[in-house]
Amino acid sequence: MNRILPGAMLGLLGGGQLGRMFTMAAQSMGYRVTVLDPSRESPAGSVADRHLCADYLDVEALHALSTSCAAVTTEFENVPAGALQFLEQHCLVSPPPHSVSIAQNRIHEKQFLAKNGFPVAPFIVIQQESDLAKEIEAAFFPGILKVSQLGYDGKGQISVSTSHELPAAFNRLQQQPCVLEQLLPLACEISVIVARGFDGQITHFPVAENQHAQGILDISIVPASVPETIIRQAREMATDVAIKLDYRGVLCIEFFVLTDGRLLINEMAPRPHNSGHYSVDACITSQFEQQARILCRLPQGSTALHAPCVMVNLLGDLWQSGEPDWCKVLENPSAKLHLYGKHEARVGRKMGHFTVMADTVELALQQAKSIKCSLT
Ligand code: ADP
Ligand code: MG
Repeated sequence: MNRILPGAMLGLLGGGQLGRMFTMAAQSMGYRVTVLDPSRESPAGSVADRHLCADYLDVEALHALSTSCAAVTTEFENVPAGALQFLEQHCLVSPPPHSVSIAQNRIHEKQFLAKNGFPVAPFIVIQQESDLAKEIEAAFFPGILKVSQLGYDGKGQISVSTSHELPAAFNRLQQQPCVLEQLLPLACEISVIVARGFDGQITHFPVAENQHAQGILDISIVPASVPETIIRQAREMATDVAIKLDYRGVLCIEFFVLTDGRLLINEMAPRPHNSGHYSVDACITSQFEQQARILCRLPQGSTALHAPCVMVNLLGDLWQSGEPDWCKVLENPSAKLHLYGKHEARVGRKMGHFTVMADTVELALQQAKSIKCSLT
């Protein structure tokens, strides 16, 4: 398969921060990038060589993208799979549209994982109100009701203690198709970013341990402090998922480590992931460079870690009394600041992140927490 070499134009669906970091990684290797995103201003659109400001299903824009770009990728899973399918007929596309359509729908995702023998939280599908009339096993309670589409950062999820609370929760979610999942006793959460090339080559990024606050990723600690057997199992499962999906590109698998030591798959994202942002500063090759390399049919880069690190998300909440004092981050010579260029800082909105590297994970965590505290 012919390699796409620096100088070529690459296409990207979506203009968020993941797209911005992909664009910057591709540009630093000498590629040019065209972003298709419907908003006039976006983190990726503002750094791209060209921004097509149109809907993802706009035929003219998709045509322009497919004729001007050597290959196209996506930065989020909620692009209509139809857009990727259209593009695939005209140019090279990764990730494959069918993986995106599975990952963008929790029902399809859970059914795909369960059917292929991957361990997931016990769940049932609730498509419509009449599904609530049947008796639901007590084992699902307490549980979490999650919408099947467009949920993110804990949005579109409601905790339910008993079956009596289900109808009200389902109504609050506008009776959208949902999964009801058993609430599990978590020891911790980890994620694996796996990359699979068109030639089948597989690489993994070091496993991250993720801590959430209010359903949103707060910090990622790398390497994860879980037993080696869990690390190995997680990498093997991530590899198997990528193979079963016949995946090409960068894929993130989020896992639950239960208090009894079992490892379950929580969900997957057919793209680079927030829990892999540490790779920009702490790995030889970042998850975004790997995405570009695979898209361009180049050999993958090493994912080796330079140093233990901690990544901290910067949410809009921090801007409540004005612009935070960035010197608090920049004064630490081993910290790296990333701001996504978003103009409006809303509560819960991901505005940036910083990564701290140190000789040990404990030291990195200590420094990261101290910087975080001094910003608030
Ligand atoms: P999102 O798409 O918003 O990331 P997730 O399904 O990953 O949705 O849920 C967000 C967070 O909520 C998880 O990272 C985890 O902390 C918690 N959570 C979700 N499902 C469960 C569950 N079944 N048991 C315990 N905690 C859960
Ligand atoms: Mg999640």
